[in-house]
Amino acid sequence: MTLLRTAVAAAAILLAGCQSAETNTTTNSSDGGQEAQIAPILDTPEAKDSATYARPLEARVCHVALDLGVDFEAKRIGGTATLDIDRKPDAREIVLDDKGLEIESITDGSNQPLDYKVGAADEKLGSPLSVALRPDTKRLIIKYKSAKDAGALQWLTPEQTAGKKKPYLFSQGQAIENRSWIPTQDSPGIRQSWEATIRVPAGLTAVMSAPKSAEPITQGGESIFSYKMPHSVAPYMIAIGVGDLAFKPLGKRTGVWTEPVMLDRAAAELADTEKMVEAAEKLYGPYRWGRYDLLVLPPAFPYGGMENPTLTFLTPTFIAGDKSLNGLVAHELAHSWSGNLVTNANWSDSWLNEGVTSYFENRIMEEIYGPKRAQQEAALSFDEMTKALAEEKNGPNTQLHLAAKEGVPDGGAGGIVYDKGATFLRTVEKIVGREKWDAYLRSYFDRHAFQPMTSDRFLADMRANLIKGDKSLEAKLQLDDWIYKPGLPSNVIRPDPAAFATVDKAVAAFTSGGPPPADFAGWTTAEKIRFLNKLPRKMSTARLAELNQRLRLNEAGNNEVLFCWLDLAIRNRFDPAVPALERFLTTQGRRKFVKPLIETLAKDPQWGRPIAVRVYRVARGSYHPITQRDLDKLNLMS
Ligand SMILES: [Zn+2]
Repeated sequence: MTLLRTAVAAAAILLAGCQSAETNTTTNSSDGGQEAQIAPILDTPEAKDSATYARPLEARVCHVALDLGVDFEAKRIGGTATLDIDRKPDAREIVLDDKGLEIESITDGSNQPLDYKVGAADEKLGSPLSVALRPDTKRLIIKYKSAKDAGALQWLTPEQTAGKKKPYLFSQGQAIENRSWIPTQDSPGIRQSWEATIRVPAGLTAVMSAPKSAEPITQGGESIFSYKMPHSVAPYMIAIGVGDLAFKPLGKRTGVWTEPVMLDRAAAELADTEKMVEAAEKLYGPYRWGRYDLLVLPPAFPYGGMENPTLTFLTPTFIAGDKSLNGLVAHELAHSWSGNLVTNANWSDSWLNEGVTSYFENRIMEEIYGPKRAQQEAALSFDEMTKALAEEKNGPNTQLHLAAKEGVPDGGAGGIVYDKGATFLRTVEKIVGREKWDAYLRSYFDRHAFQPMTSDRFLADMRANLIKGDKSLEAKLQLDDWIYKPGLPSNVIRPDPAAFATVDKAVAAFTSGGPPPADFAGWTTAEKIRFLNKLPRKMSTARLAELNQRLRLNEAGNNEVLFCWLDLAIRNRFDPAVPALERFLTTQGRRKFVKPLIETLAKDPQWGRPIAVRVYRVARGSYHPITQRDLDKLNLMS
């Protein structure tokens, strides 16, 4: 702990002067001035990010100001990025991340050209963009265009939207995609404040992951939108959405943006959002970002949700009509603390974002919907973890802290970083007691607000502020085993089997030849998922037909339930599910759903692969570049 503190202090002295925009301009900050300075770069070895070319201990970006136009015809965003930097006095250059950007010029604050060089490109990381610094250079002005086929950007034609009339654009920055449209140091450990002026064709609305800083202006065929993020954030959190968007308030500081035709349905599904913010604050301290709005995207959005600050991006597939999938909202909201406020310094520690958030999500669900739903969802998460541990044979990829593979920030399997991470915190909670644990976790968010975090620092913080030298508690927790060893430590707290007692009985009855459960329609979503996932993976056509007929699975309106059913159906070459499968794969592009289904199909050369080829030829154009990149590996188009 002492060692770490010294190291951080040293780094701060090295690069002092990265003042946050907030402290220069206002005194009414909700954090009481805690964020006096943009967080220094952690300089311990485990905090190094192998997925950036930046050398932030020599020269770093503190603030990004974008002035950009959105060109739907050319599918490019272009304009200027003005970077305020901080540097060692003797730094000769600053290195940025660049994935295919088209750079026209780079000048300093007085418009004098600066020499720059784009290095060799790596397929995943892109290229280093090195800019020569004069002794007095403190600002870079980069005139540029986003990359052709930028991985962060998805451009939708009007036909690919719900309204069918206007085009749509949205970005996805995590993990290392933003370097394809913003020239900056693209590492979560290099926090930056930012602002943007965005010009779009008149009639479209641009929303971003920051508070609005001026009212929009429409003139000369274009509309101009201005946003400013006063806090420093990891650069992957800069996000944009442009389309035919309408807004509906959900509560005093919450609301939803989406296409007008989806607005009422989305708002109804999100009706509990304000309550969720209140529940989260009650658990772990103030929500520090001002507004909490959501943007419900067209079906091509590749993720369930993305926790872009002040504006969560959300898949429309969470709309089930009964709020049964709004755990997704609790998850993205919880990231306002774990992820956005305290952020993994590099992607080897993404469990600090995702595991802590999955735990926090479940606590919000318990506050609002009660312990039964929370316990069931925790038990499903435990199942996901168990599956991932088995698939990885308890190998090195099952550590929470993932060994940094050269330049591959894939964040590891979801069942590990999300579910094993959450199971770890549930275990700690049980051992130390909820009251003490909650007080600790709240203080952790306060102590490290707007700072990067590593596993080492997290454990040091726990030891200093929770364990406080209690040797017997230290031994009971097995902290190092959880974080740095594969597999599952012996102190794991298992979910209460009572959570799914009824369902597990129904599984046993059906498996031994009995009928499908008669009361299935009245079950919770978690119960339906548990039932389908616990059935044997190999089943006869007759039994599948019986299930489908009695439980009406092909027509399931809940996308998570439908996904579990289709997974079971295709593993058994169940033809009657194929029309539902094709509809599902061609009308939404959520990677969690489409990737495993298409991969399973492709592995079955006789029956499945022809279906995969047929579907992918139709659907590829509507999938996000990130999803395309994964699925192109299956060679279905050739
Ligand atoms: Zn998450």
